[in-house]
Amino acid sequence: MKPIFAANWKMNGSLESINQLISSLLSQSLNSIAREVIIFPPSPYLLHTKKLLGNINWYVGGQNLSNFDQGAYTGEVAASMLRDLGCGYVLVGHSERRHVIGESCELVAQKFHKAIQHKLIPILCIGETLDERNAKETYNVIDKQLRSVLDLPTGAEILSKGIVAYEPVWAIGTGIAAKPNDVANLHGYIRTWLLENKVEDVPIIYGGSVTPDNAHELLLKPEINGVLVGGASLDANKFMEILKCIN
Ligand code: PEP
Repeated sequence: MKPIFAANWKMNGSLESINQLISSLLSQSLNSIAREVIIFPPSPYLLHTKKLLGNINWYVGGQNLSNFDQGAYTGEVAASMLRDLGCGYVLVGHSERRHVIGESCELVAQKFHKAIQHKLIPILCIGETLDERNAKETYNVIDKQLRSVLDLPTGAEILSKGIVAYEPVWAIGTGIAAKPNDVANLHGYIRTWLLENKVEDVPIIYGGSVTPDNAHELLLKPEINGVLVGGASLDANKFMEILKCIN
């Protein structure tokens, strides 16, 4: 399993800043064969980013998708459109979509299914808020968020085609990353949960204030199969340092 490095640009950037960011990334040499690198630009910039990446074997992905196929759903982006633009991946259930936009576990599960139907690899983002953590609800939250996909018809088969990103909400964009040992334990819990439910070979990656300072220690843990990077992925030097922290 190659380590995964996902860059979530969120709702940031412009044609100009993306030109600069990609040209700066491409100017630095890297053996990308040993890594799976996926860039998640805002959807209006997907095609542009894909073209800028040229022949380099990095992927682009959508930050969100509709649970519908097509039609009168103003403002939504269909899975088939993401495929059309060359996406291989899509984020599903990012905490900002769950907690800012208000997406329910059921909607997230439908989106996960829609991605699979259209041969996109969904990255299912799960994780507890600070209140949930303080109330010792972390495992219950993770169970509920995973179960919503597992409970779909053929759920185990569907779930086994995706990626799980453990992203504690209190660590996202706060500069306070979870401790590598705690992440490893949580990933161990998720791995056991998946195996008990006949879901095998799913990469489990970590997101939440990943920086060049903590990426190495996180990625040394065998339980952590990659990282999902938000803020630091908007800085070419920082993202490159994160990419280079493993050989
Ligand atoms: C994210 O957007 O998923 C994320 C983890 O953001 P940050 O790295 O900025 O915490």
